[in-house]
Amino acid sequence: MNRVPVALQRRPGTFRPPTLQTLPVAVTANVARIRARTPNTIMAVVKADGYGHGAVTVAKAAVAAGAGWLGTTSVAEASALRAAGLAVPILAWLHPGGIDAEAAAAARVDVAVGSVDELGALVARAASAVRVHLYMDTGMSRGGCSRGQWDELIGLAQRGQQARRLRVVGVMGHLPLADRADPAANAAAVAGMREAQRAVRTAGFGSTVAHLAATSGTLTDPATHFGMVRVGAGLVGIDPSGTVEMHGASRLTAPIVHTTAAPAGTPVGYAGTYVTDRATHLSVLPVGYADGIPREISPQAGVEIGGRRLPVVGRVSMDQIVIDTGAESVPVGTSATVFGPDGGATPTIHDWARWAGTIPHTIVTGIGPRVKRSIT
Ligand SMILES: *Cc1c(COP(=O)(O)O)cnc(C)c1O
Repeated sequence: MNRVPVALQRRPGTFRPPTLQTLPVAVTANVARIRARTPNTIMAVVKADGYGHGAVTVAKAAVAAGAGWLGTTSVAEASALRAAGLAVPILAWLHPGGIDAEAAAAARVDVAVGSVDELGALVARAASAVRVHLYMDTGMSRGGCSRGQWDELIGLAQRGQQARRLRVVGVMGHLPLADRADPAANAAAVAGMREAQRAVRTAGFGSTVAHLAATSGTLTDPATHFGMVRVGAGLVGIDPSGTVEMHGASRLTAPIVHTTAAPAGTPVGYAGTYVTDRATHLSVLPVGYADGIPREISPQAGVEIGGRRLPVVGRVSMDQIVIDTGAESVPVGTSATVFGPDGGATPTIHDWARWAGTIPHTIVTGIGPRVKRSIT
């Protein structure tokens, strides 16, 4: 039998709402860390709204810190960066609605093309020369032209360039195994990339930039660097290879909106999956799975309040989580840090990823639209 729920106290007043702060100084420091690993051009990848940190914010910080290119998935995302005043070359490599050649030309956006069909459609539609990177599959089988069709792709690109519909300015691959931090695991892709580079050179397109590595290849294997590296996760504090500590670039805070005393034996949240084992205090934060708090988390999950790590208890609801604050009754309005780069009692995005059995990328890209954004 469940006990009668303990009345929640709610005090009037306004608090700082749930907020995701982006820390551009961390992006700056991360670019410096990447620069220490490679002399080559750095492309700052800011897809998925800069991995949830704000594409324009991350792009501006990265370019100011020395990134020479920007990367996005779509031409539309790239156009938004142009509109925000970013002038460096931008590459877009995924075209969910087909390549908008007109928009690409208008915003001076390079497009990666990874299939004969896609290139054929571009050649047919382009009114002026679109800057193209030939995207070759180097072992991922997710995107890029499969090796059996490289010759056909290159032949079509030659005809398109002769007809002034496009200009081939780059050749691109992607590493499937770089997270292993083992150059031997990358060797096949590196060899494939060299082959693609040779084929493109032989075709006589003129000067092109070759690029293969993302963050983990950049940090762990110089053989993958070619002329440029494409770094996204590393900008916001994630090294997928787990070998280099990067600077966390965001902080998620939320105010306590309810606090209550609870006797021993009080079930908490849906289905009462957590029952207090002593007299304690419970505080509610107004963030839940609709805001990106993972629902499937281990009992280790916690937040920082007043310099202490305190556990999230009971089920994560759509809009809220409950924190067991022990002997202390924490006043409503007190700010809790869900994650941040601070260390100590403050959980990191890596902690949340571990608690949820996922990768930190899904934590930062999953923060919902209700959470206010700020730049610090
Ligand atoms: C996302 C992405 C990157 C960046 O990868 P990170 O591991 O986040 O640095 C690079 N290249 C391509 C094609 C991508 O899709």
